[in-house]
Amino acid sequence: MNLKKYRIAFIPVSIGIILAVFLYITVKWWGFLILFPWMGLAISVGIFLQLKLKGKNRLLGRKICLLMIMPALLIFVPIFNNENFQLEGVVLIVSAGFFSKGFIHYIIAKILGPLVWRRGFCGYACWTAAVLDWLPIGNNRNNINRSYRNIRFVTLIISVAIPLYMVFGLAYDPWENYINIAEMKWMFVGNGIYYLLAIPLAFILKDRRAFCKYLCPASLIMKPASYFSLIKTSPDKSVKCLECSVCNNYCPMGVDVMGYMRENKPVTDTECILCGDCSNVCPVGKIL
Ligand code: SF4
Ligand code: SF4
Ligand code: SF4
Repeated sequence: MNLKKYRIAFIPVSIGIILAVFLYITVKWWGFLILFPWMGLAISVGIFLQLKLKGKNRLLGRKICLLMIMPALLIFVPIFNNENFQLEGVVLIVSAGFFSKGFIHYIIAKILGPLVWRRGFCGYACWTAAVLDWLPIGNNRNNINRSYRNIRFVTLIISVAIPLYMVFGLAYDPWENYINIAEMKWMFVGNGIYYLLAIPLAFILKDRRAFCKYLCPASLIMKPASYFSLIKTSPDKSVKCLECSVCNNYCPMGVDVMGYMRENKPVTDTECILCGDCSNVCPVGKIL
């Protein structure tokens, strides 16, 4: 095996171990020592498979990574730490002055992280997407006007306004019967609602990432920082684009990848989730 070729696959697991040790020392929760190395390992496995497999099979790497991370965030954290990582739950606890692991998750994955790895959380770690990306449906690029994606502003306002109104309007005190008591329950209820919306919507619109495009409030939180991301999907300027549209057809977020590649520009569309699917299917290796 050519180890040099696979060197990049070791980076995520290494970062996971470093982050775990740092957070364990600062926050003192043993779960970080399992969580971050496991997530790093999952991403490393995904990248390794993308490098190892051939043709369209390379798309499996990311899907397997999503499946590996899903139980860590959807089951391990809620059960062992009684946490709700859903946006609504995080707003509720932060407005009560509780800067817990849910808050840390938001900072790392969705607020500061996108400055480095764009919306890589959506591509490689989201527990909702872990189900959506395995649905037997393709990516619908046609039919739906892009302005419908603004519906997410409504869901974002609802997701933030309800917990804020509970705390500041109704004087609900999350310390009394929510924080460390009922958070786990609400993590499962909140996710249940997301799945109940996301899975039928995917079938109705024939687009497995329809929920991400039209309803997910968290997507909007990641978009501003992701515009300035250090890492972007970029063209190999030494390779000529065939203008075959294969990348566009496989992009789960409906980005006009071909347009960027034709002009030899990095993808600046903040819908890009840095999944690498376009790169994995490009017949000439134009996309880095
Ligand atoms: S847009 Fe929302 S549901 Fe889709 S992958 Fe990102 S966080 Fe998950
Ligand atoms: S542009 Fe490429 S990396 Fe970005 S979301 Fe589309 S397929 Fe994934
Ligand atoms: S798949 Fe590659 S060659 Fe085809 S349009 Fe996209 S960038 Fe160009």
